[in-house]
Amino acid sequence: MSDYVILDERFSRLIIAHAKLERLWTGCRWAEGPVYVPAARHLLWSDIPNDRVLRLVEDDGHVSVFASPCGHHNGHTLDREGRVIACEHGGRRISRLGADGLWCALATHYQGKRLNSPNDVVVKSDGSLWFSDPTYGIDGYYEGAFAASEIGAANVYRLDPASGAVEAVVTDLVRPNGLAFSPDERKLYVADTGETHVAGTPRAIHAYHVGADGQSLGREGVFAVSEAGLFDGFRVDTAGNIWASSADSVRVFAPDGTMIGRIPVPELVANLCFGGRHRNRLYITAQTSLYAIYVNAHPAGWRPE
Ligand code: MG
Repeated sequence: MSDYVILDERFSRLIIAHAKLERLWTGCRWAEGPVYVPAARHLLWSDIPNDRVLRLVEDDGHVSVFASPCGHHNGHTLDREGRVIACEHGGRRISRLGADGLWCALATHYQGKRLNSPNDVVVKSDGSLWFSDPTYGIDGYYEGAFAASEIGAANVYRLDPASGAVEAVVTDLVRPNGLAFSPDERKLYVADTGETHVAGTPRAIHAYHVGADGQSLGREGVFAVSEAGLFDGFRVDTAGNIWASSADSVRVFAPDGTMIGRIPVPELVANLCFGGRHRNRLYITAQTSLYAIYVNAHPAGWRPE
């Protein structure tokens, strides 16, 4: 039996029909923020309530603690030089892992006020970092530590790589969360999980078009609405399809917004990323566990060896 649900013929070309979903590890309280590090052939992900970053080493599959305590990391990505970038709920900052093994702060404030709790981050080809800053890490003492929001809003920010300036680029969502660029970087997609705080907030991924300056955004509209749960983290493949976490599945949307298929997962799906030597293994963080399944797709920006 296939582990995929094919809703549109386009999805059948993106999968390996007989590939099985594997549970690679369990024991987290809330697994999030996966990033694949090609140079090390390992996957890092966050176990936010336990304040640790875990590591799966691909050569023998063993899992160990990479960092703890770590300031309650959530989302991760790699910058243009392959360095790991982290969103820290506890540290309330964006940080980067240096060659010395230390996490150094890249962004801590916006207009003189502390960030809420950065959640997810992406890197654009010009080296800028774009990150969401909802309040989940300061709402209580489970995923961080309680604090009132100094900014009083939950925005998406752009961190300029040269000046270090932090500019708000999305200010019209309730709790912006996962985000990713289209392959040509003309669009930024942002998930809104605002229903956790404001009833009736659309459970949607929103699309914004990137201005000619490569820095400003204009609202385009709702890209997709979730049929189950809230969209959290997601990734875009080379063809512009969106592989999104939501509740009981990874749901896959064509660039036109059509849901073309899904991968049911037996726990709540929080995030995912492409990994493996050929980046065709989808790593999925879901509630207490790490899962993986091979696919016939690769992340935007990937080129064959
Ligand atoms: Mg998230």
